[in-house]
Amino acid sequence: MTRIAGGGLSRNPFGATAAHAQEARAAESLQQQVEEELFGKKRKKPPLVDDDSVEMQGLLARLSAWKDKLARFAGDRGSDYRLLLCEGTIAMIDGDGGILLGRRFLLSHREDTPLLVGVLAHEIGHRPARWNSLKSESPRTKAELQELCRLEETRADHFAGRALAAFGLSPSSLCAFLLALEDPKAQGSHDYFPAPLRVEVISEGHADGQRKSNARRSLFPELDRHTNPRNDLGSG
Ligand SMILES: [Zn+2]
Repeated sequence: MTRIAGGGLSRNPFGATAAHAQEARAAESLQQQVEEELFGKKRKKPPLVDDDSVEMQGLLARLSAWKDKLARFAGDRGSDYRLLLCEGTIAMIDGDGGILLGRRFLLSHREDTPLLVGVLAHEIGHRPARWNSLKSESPRTKAELQELCRLEETRADHFAGRALAAFGLSPSSLCAFLLALEDPKAQGSHDYFPAPLRVEVISEGHADGQRKSNARRSLFPELDRHTNPRNDLGSG
Protein backbone atom coordinates (compact mmCIF):
# COMPACT_ATOMS: atom_id res chain seq x y z
CA MET A 1 0.00 0.00 0.00
CA THR A 2 1.27 3.41 -0.87
CA ARG A 3 1.05 6.21 1.57
CA ILE A 4 1.41 9.88 1.51
CA ALA A 5 4.18 12.16 2.36
CA GLY A 6 4.12 15.15 4.61
CA GLY A 7 5.50 18.53 3.82
CA GLY A 8 4.96 22.17 4.50
CA LEU A 9 2.67 24.47 2.63
CA SER A 10 5.41 26.17 0.71
CA ARG A 11 6.94 22.96 -0.51
CA ASN A 12 3.81 21.09 -1.21
CA PRO A 13 1.58 22.84 -3.68
CA PHE A 14 -0.98 20.07 -3.89
CA GLY A 15 0.23 16.79 -3.79
CA ALA A 16 3.41 15.39 -4.76
CA THR A 17 5.99 15.44 -2.15
CA ALA A 18 9.09 17.42 -2.76
CA ALA A 19 10.88 14.13 -2.57
CA HIS A 20 14.43 14.36 -3.69
CA ALA A 21 15.17 11.11 -5.35
CA GLN A 22 17.96 9.24 -3.80
CA GLU A 23 20.87 8.07 -5.84
CA ALA A 24 20.39 4.85 -7.74
CA ARG A 25 17.56 3.63 -5.64
CA ALA A 26 16.87 -0.02 -6.16
CA ALA A 27 13.28 0.00 -7.29
CA GLU A 28 11.48 -3.04 -8.56
CA SER A 29 9.62 -1.27 -11.30
CA LEU A 30 8.83 2.10 -12.74
CA GLN A 31 5.46 1.97 -11.01
CA GLN A 32 7.12 1.68 -7.64
CA GLN A 33 9.56 4.47 -8.43
CA VAL A 34 6.82 6.84 -9.52
CA GLU A 35 4.65 6.06 -6.52
CA GLU A 36 7.51 6.66 -4.18
CA GLU A 37 8.39 9.91 -5.86
CA LEU A 38 4.86 11.25 -6.21
CA PHE A 39 3.13 9.84 -3.22
CA GLY A 40 6.09 9.69 -0.92
CA LYS A 41 5.89 6.11 0.22
CA LYS A 42 9.02 6.48 2.26
CA ARG A 43 8.02 9.67 3.97
CA LYS A 44 5.86 10.22 6.95
CA LYS A 45 2.28 10.92 6.01
CA PRO A 46 0.60 13.93 7.56
CA PRO A 47 -1.35 13.02 10.69
CA LEU A 48 -5.05 12.39 10.13
CA VAL A 49 -7.30 14.49 12.32
CA ASP A 50 -10.91 14.45 13.40
CA ASP A 51 -13.08 17.49 13.24
CA ASP A 52 -16.66 16.85 14.17
CA SER A 53 -17.69 20.48 14.01
CA VAL A 54 -20.87 21.13 12.06
CA GLU A 55 -18.93 23.50 9.86
CA MET A 56 -16.28 20.96 8.86
CA GLN A 57 -18.76 18.14 8.44
CA GLY A 58 -20.87 20.32 6.17
CA LEU A 59 -17.82 21.33 4.16
CA LEU A 60 -16.66 17.72 3.79
CA ALA A 61 -20.11 16.63 2.66
CA ARG A 62 -20.08 19.35 0.03
CA LEU A 63 -16.60 18.37 -1.13
CA SER A 64 -17.51 14.71 -1.17
CA ALA A 65 -20.26 15.43 -3.69
CA TRP A 66 -17.69 17.29 -5.80
CA LYS A 67 -15.23 14.43 -5.41
CA ASP A 68 -17.82 12.04 -6.89
CA LYS A 69 -18.58 14.34 -9.81
CA LEU A 70 -14.91 14.93 -10.56
CA ALA A 71 -14.18 11.20 -10.39
CA ARG A 72 -16.92 10.51 -12.92
CA PHE A 73 -15.64 13.33 -15.11
CA ALA A 74 -12.20 11.66 -15.01
CA GLY A 75 -13.76 8.34 -16.03
CA ASP A 76 -13.54 6.74 -12.58
CA ARG A 77 -16.12 6.02 -9.89
CA GLY A 78 -16.75 8.25 -6.92
CA SER A 79 -16.00 5.29 -4.67
CA ASP A 80 -12.50 5.03 -6.15
CA TYR A 81 -11.60 8.02 -4.00
CA ARG A 82 -12.20 9.02 -0.41
CA LEU A 83 -11.58 12.21 1.49
CA LEU A 84 -9.41 12.21 4.58
CA LEU A 85 -8.79 15.15 6.85
CA CYS A 86 -5.23 15.80 7.96
CA GLU A 87 -2.99 18.45 9.41
CA GLY A 88 0.03 20.13 7.91
CA THR A 89 -0.53 20.02 4.16
CA ILE A 90 -2.83 21.40 1.49
CA ALA A 91 -3.85 18.31 -0.40
CA MET A 92 -2.31 15.11 -1.64
CA ILE A 93 -3.38 11.76 -2.96
CA ASP A 94 -2.06 8.32 -2.19
CA GLY A 95 -1.82 5.30 -4.45
CA ASP A 96 -5.15 3.96 -3.19
CA GLY A 97 -7.23 7.00 -4.00
CA GLY A 98 -7.15 8.47 -0.49
CA ILE A 99 -7.24 12.26 -0.86
CA LEU A 100 -5.73 13.98 2.15
CA LEU A 101 -7.00 17.48 2.69
CA GLY A 102 -5.41 19.90 5.11
CA ARG A 103 -7.84 21.07 7.77
CA ARG A 104 -6.42 24.57 7.97
CA PHE A 105 -6.38 24.94 4.20
CA LEU A 106 -10.05 23.90 3.99
CA LEU A 107 -11.16 26.22 6.75
CA SER A 108 -9.33 29.24 5.43
CA HIS A 109 -10.79 28.77 1.94
CA ARG A 110 -14.19 27.32 2.77
CA GLU A 111 -16.04 30.01 0.84
CA ASP A 112 -13.90 29.62 -2.27
CA THR A 113 -15.60 26.74 -4.07
CA PRO A 114 -13.67 27.13 -7.35
CA LEU A 115 -10.37 26.87 -5.44
CA LEU A 116 -11.41 23.83 -3.41
CA VAL A 117 -12.84 22.09 -6.47
CA GLY A 118 -9.70 22.97 -8.45
CA VAL A 119 -7.43 21.46 -5.80
CA LEU A 120 -9.61 18.35 -5.59
CA ALA A 121 -9.59 18.10 -9.38
CA HIS A 122 -5.80 18.27 -9.44
CA GLU A 123 -5.59 15.32 -7.04
CA ILE A 124 -8.14 13.25 -8.92
CA GLY A 125 -6.34 14.18 -12.14
CA HIS A 126 -3.42 12.05 -10.93
CA ARG A 127 -5.66 8.97 -11.18
CA PRO A 128 -3.23 6.83 -9.19
CA ALA A 129 -4.84 3.60 -10.38
CA ARG A 130 -3.21 4.33 -13.73
CA TRP A 131 0.18 3.71 -12.21
CA ASN A 132 -0.60 0.01 -12.13
CA SER A 133 0.07 -0.02 -15.85
CA LEU A 134 3.69 0.86 -15.14
CA LYS A 135 4.21 -2.26 -13.08
CA SER A 136 6.01 -4.13 -15.80
CA GLU A 137 8.21 -1.27 -16.90
CA SER A 138 11.80 -1.18 -15.80
CA PRO A 139 13.16 1.50 -13.45
CA ARG A 140 14.42 4.79 -14.81
CA THR A 141 17.31 7.00 -13.89
CA LYS A 142 16.80 9.82 -11.41
CA ALA A 143 16.61 12.44 -14.18
CA GLU A 144 14.10 10.42 -16.21
CA LEU A 145 12.01 9.86 -13.12
CA GLN A 146 11.91 13.55 -12.26
CA GLU A 147 10.85 14.38 -15.78
CA LEU A 148 8.10 11.81 -15.60
CA CYS A 149 6.88 13.22 -12.29
CA ARG A 150 6.77 16.77 -13.61
CA LEU A 151 4.81 15.45 -16.57
CA GLU A 152 2.44 13.78 -14.14
CA GLU A 153 1.94 17.08 -12.27
CA THR A 154 1.32 18.84 -15.56
CA ARG A 155 -1.27 16.25 -16.49
CA ALA A 156 -3.03 16.81 -13.16
CA ASP A 157 -2.98 20.60 -13.62
CA HIS A 158 -4.37 20.33 -17.15
CA PHE A 159 -7.13 18.06 -15.90
CA ALA A 160 -7.96 20.56 -13.14
CA GLY A 161 -8.39 23.29 -15.77
CA ARG A 162 -10.60 21.11 -17.96
CA ALA A 163 -12.71 19.98 -15.02
CA LEU A 164 -13.27 23.54 -13.79
CA ALA A 165 -14.44 24.51 -17.29
CA ALA A 166 -16.75 21.51 -17.52
CA PHE A 167 -18.43 22.55 -14.27
CA GLY A 168 -18.62 26.20 -15.21
CA LEU A 169 -16.08 27.35 -12.61
CA SER A 170 -13.29 29.86 -13.10
CA PRO A 171 -9.64 28.78 -12.76
CA SER A 172 -8.55 32.17 -11.45
CA SER A 173 -8.70 31.27 -7.73
CA LEU A 174 -6.56 28.21 -8.29
CA CYS A 175 -4.03 30.13 -10.37
CA ALA A 176 -3.84 33.03 -7.90
CA PHE A 177 -3.41 30.57 -5.05
CA LEU A 178 -0.49 28.83 -6.77
CA LEU A 179 1.22 32.10 -7.59
CA ALA A 180 0.81 33.40 -4.05
CA LEU A 181 2.15 30.17 -2.60
CA GLU A 182 5.38 30.16 -4.50
CA ASP A 183 8.46 31.92 -3.30
CA PRO A 184 9.14 34.44 -6.08
CA LYS A 185 12.78 33.34 -6.13
CA ALA A 186 11.88 29.69 -6.57
CA GLN A 187 12.36 28.14 -9.95
CA GLY A 188 10.06 25.19 -9.53
CA SER A 189 11.45 21.99 -8.10
CA HIS A 190 12.28 18.47 -9.08
CA ASP A 191 8.58 17.75 -8.99
CA TYR A 192 6.93 20.91 -10.21
CA PHE A 193 7.37 23.50 -12.85
CA PRO A 194 7.38 27.10 -11.60
CA ALA A 195 3.96 28.49 -10.69
CA PRO A 196 3.66 30.80 -13.74
CA LEU A 197 4.08 27.82 -16.04
CA ARG A 198 1.57 25.79 -14.04
CA VAL A 199 -0.87 28.68 -14.35
CA GLU A 200 -0.43 28.51 -18.12
CA VAL A 201 -1.15 24.80 -18.13
CA ILE A 202 -4.27 25.22 -15.99
CA SER A 203 -5.50 28.09 -18.17
CA GLU A 204 -4.87 26.06 -21.32
CA GLY A 205 -6.78 23.13 -19.81
CA HIS A 206 -9.62 25.48 -18.94
CA ALA A 207 -9.71 26.97 -22.45
CA ASP A 208 -9.66 23.45 -23.89
CA GLY A 209 -12.54 22.41 -21.64
CA GLN A 210 -14.53 25.47 -22.62
CA ARG A 211 -13.99 24.86 -26.33
CA LYS A 212 -15.23 21.31 -25.91
CA SER A 213 -18.34 22.24 -23.95
CA ASN A 214 -19.18 25.07 -26.34
CA ALA A 215 -18.78 22.85 -29.38
CA ARG A 216 -20.89 20.13 -27.84
CA ARG A 217 -23.59 22.56 -26.81
CA SER A 218 -23.92 24.03 -30.29
CA LEU A 219 -23.53 20.78 -32.25
CA PHE A 220 -25.48 18.42 -30.03
CA PRO A 221 -27.76 20.47 -27.80
CA GLU A 222 -29.95 17.52 -26.89
CA LEU A 223 -27.02 15.28 -26.01
CA ASP A 224 -25.47 18.13 -24.04
CA ARG A 225 -28.56 18.48 -21.88
CA HIS A 226 -28.28 14.84 -20.93
CA THR A 227 -24.55 14.44 -20.56
CA ASN A 228 -23.23 17.81 -19.44
CA PRO A 229 -21.22 17.26 -16.23
CA ARG A 230 -22.98 20.30 -14.78
CA ASN A 231 -26.18 18.29 -14.82
CA ASP A 232 -24.55 15.40 -12.99
CA LEU A 233 -26.87 15.02 -10.05
CA GLY A 234 -24.83 12.34 -8.44
CA SER A 235 -26.48 9.09 -9.31
CA GLY A 236 -23.42 7.03 -10.20
ZN1 LIG B 1 -0.05 16.75 -7.84
